[in-house]
Amino acid sequence: MDRIAELTHHFSQIKSAIQHAESAANRERGSVHLLAVSKTKPASDIEALFRLGQRQFGENYVQEAVNKIDSLSDLDIEWHYIGHIQSNKTKIIATAFDWVHTIDREKIASRLNEARVGKPLNILIQVNVDLAETKSGVAPGDLKRLAETIWALPNLRLRGLMSIPDPVSEEDLKRSHQTLRSLFEELKQAHPAPEIFDTLSMGMTNDLALAVTEGSTMVRIGTALFGARPPKDSL
Ligand SMILES: *Cc1c(COP(=O)(O)O)cnc(C)c1O
Repeated sequence: MDRIAELTHHFSQIKSAIQHAESAANRERGSVHLLAVSKTKPASDIEALFRLGQRQFGENYVQEAVNKIDSLSDLDIEWHYIGHIQSNKTKIIATAFDWVHTIDREKIASRLNEARVGKPLNILIQVNVDLAETKSGVAPGDLKRLAETIWALPNLRLRGLMSIPDPVSEEDLKRSHQTLRSLFEELKQAHPAPEIFDTLSMGMTNDLALAVTEGSTMVRIGTALFGARPPKDSL
């Protein structure tokens, strides 16, 4: 199979897996967005999926992403930054992307706010639901405070929450998803504009259906769409 045929096949498989999970969970068709995670993959793959109707793409590495964003600038793509954020990269992230999923501290939020020009940047707070020591994300107990800081920043628009659960048992995953969901509902109650707080970014290739069952509105899919990545990029 050539690459285009392969991507076409994967894309339709994922679309139907999402639809299947939506109906199994009694959720409205189209309530779960697909974020195509294209890190390490060439711009030609992104363009091929775009031609099939995919609009939202996620990237993890700033320089690699910026090269692709530049080369695909004539396509109407919504770019999501889902990688770790170094503070010396905030300016370029605030300029090149439409969404950032990985905010976990005030300093980064205020730097993005200062650098953003034009339409507000859509923001998700990354929560360290499992309180894993090695992982980024705000602790659940500090979430409200960080949210309040972001609400006050005019160039950021807080849209929801995100998590990267540890690869664990299905039962633990389910518990993580449920925790994130309830933090989301709780914060929505407090949000000054709850109608824009509409995004729960959870679920990857291995837990797509489970995440949709537990209320995800955006699944971030890399491997199942594009195939395996080089070993170093296991995330
Ligand atoms: C790489 C990555 C994904 C995609 O993971 P797959 O298992 O390949 O679907 C999703 N979210 C984040 C934050 C990632 O870094």
